Amino acid sequence: MQIPTDELSQLAEDGLLRSLRPLGPSHLPFVNLGGRELLNFSSNDYLGLSRHPALIEAATKALTDHGTGAASSRLVCGSLTLFHELEEHIAHGKKTEAALTFANGYATAMGTIPALVGKDDTIVLDKLAHACLIDAARLSGATLRVFPHNDLTKLEKLLNSSKGRTLIITESVFSMDGDLCPLAEIIKLKEKTGALLLLDEAHAIGVLGPTGQGLAEELGLQARVDFQMGTFGKALGSAGGYLAASREWIDLLINKARSFIYSTAPPPAQVAANLAALSLLSSQEGMELRSRLLAHCSRLESPTPIVPRIIGENADAIAVSEALLEKGLLIPAIRYPTVPRGTARLRITLSAAHTTTHLDRLLQEI
Ligand SMILES: *Cc1c(COP(=O)(O)O)cnc(C)c1O
Repeated sequence: MQIPTDELSQLAEDGLLRSLRPLGPSHLPFVNLGGRELLNFSSNDYLGLSRHPALIEAATKALTDHGTGAASSRLVCGSLTLFHELEEHIAHGKKTEAALTFANGYATAMGTIPALVGKDDTIVLDKLAHACLIDAARLSGATLRVFPHNDLTKLEKLLNSSKGRTLIITESVFSMDGDLCPLAEIIKLKEKTGALLLLDEAHAIGVLGPTGQGLAEELGLQARVDFQMGTFGKALGSAGGYLAASREWIDLLINKARSFIYSTAPPPAQVAANLAALSLLSSQEGMELRSRLLAHCSRLESPTPIVPRIIGENADAIAVSEALLEKGLLIPAIRYPTVPRGTARLRITLSAAHTTTHLDRLLQEI
């Protein structure tokens, strides 16, 4: 058979079939799904920046100045100064010598991790790490060792028995659980054993830290993280990925990261929006947006804007999500393989674009 009917029906039988729901023009905190306006508790636009006039203005100007596309990889036609400006701004915020940007966070992981380690090396990865970190770790050819989520004892054991260059990979805020990694303790272990650390701040940038740079900034540990990775697609409101590190590592990535070398540079308008978002982060307005978001988090007794409600079975999680949809709230059900089997859940995400009235409704309905 040349058509995947069996695979699709198996997915349906397991309650794991996914499909796309057409989305109309939407403006957070609302979402227009199938012609209905719902309150959106599923967006990663934690600060509501995707509609911010400063980002739209910067992107519009870049469209006028540079057109819609970058036309080639940055190593071919030349590298637009806008990218360099952005990378300097990122490095400044991360307190590193340099940074490199990619089309998105996924491409950042796929390009960087296989450039940092290879077949004689070891990757030590948190069990709940994001799919792109797992895929990139596999692609690298390094020996892959996985430690149970945030388990420092097991992490230390793996570090003590690793071969070659050793890279620890973890996240500051876990995307489906909303909890934090024990960063200070991980850094102590890394330094004790001479390993390197890649910290994915995808859900922490914009949210944590005095200037919104993430968990490493919040804990004053930026200088002790070798590779600070993140995305512009979540709290920063547009798209793009970055890795910040020392100059030599970044020079190596420019020469080795295949998703950087063999892919058309992101549209200049995206880069301009990224720059505007970074400027906003450290401004008074950025601080106000962050404190409003964190006030919402405290109301849900969560350390971060990702609030999971574990349900268990796939069908149950879908039923609860559908019931909330009927009441006008969009809160998606998250299933295997995004989360482990038997831990299907609702994933509520909060944004500074919500008001306390929206939070009241959420609390009342769940
Ligand atoms: C979303 C996410 C990514 C991917 O970033 P994109 O810019 O969306 O490709 C990487 N890591 C983590 C932890 C994420 O949650």
